[in-house]
Amino acid sequence: QPGELTRFLQGLAGSFASLFESKGITYHYTVSLQPVWVQMDSDKLEQIISNLLSNACKFTPAKGQVRFSASVTPSQTGRYELQLIVEDTGIGIADDQLPRIFDRFYQVDDSATRSYEGTGIGLALVKELVDLHGGNIQAESRLGSGTTFHLRLPLKTARVGELPGQESPGQESAALEIPLS
Ligand code: ATP
Ligand code: MG
Repeated sequence: QPGELTRFLQGLAGSFASLFESKGITYHYTVSLQPVWVQMDSDKLEQIISNLLSNACKFTPAKGQVRFSASVTPSQTGRYELQLIVEDTGIGIADDQLPRIFDRFYQVDDSATRSYEGTGIGLALVKELVDLHGGNIQAESRLGSGTTFHLRLPLKTARVGELPGQESPGQESAALEIPLS
């Protein structure tokens, strides 16, 4: 479905504010300002972002900070891509565990005393959706100080920076290549 990506991302990012607030986490989000019309599967994009922001909330204690940023930039191939960053000051992940976090059912601590809910499928799903889309996801982390996820999702021929009021996607609208089912 054609849609305007910037407003969608602002709405989605904003919808997490109360969740972070209720846990006493400072939350900042930045979404690049120019309108971008894309052919997008907003459900899939929402699943990707929601999983990462939920994890950031779950694994960050009160008084921590979470940042989300989204921007559309020209890629090396001359096309446009969506870049997402989700950064937290949470518990972090040890170097030897980091390569496994995208594995299905993998959880860093799966002991009976584990204090976090979940089943360990969120990041596996995220990785699957990003891969299907021809995108890329990377995690950096330091145990005890926080975790950052960087994502890049290719956009076909993006049409960006239109004047406000021009809401027609036109022929060259971009395709966010997340498959529909
Ligand atoms: P589910 O997503 O199915 O509810 P989950 O959150 O435990 O369960 P994933 O989202 O797949 O599972 O994450 C896998 C594991 O990676 C987590 O259990 C946790 O150990 C680690 N992890 C993921 N995100 C973070 C983060 N932001 N900070 C610290 N650890 C994380
Ligand atoms: Mg999760």
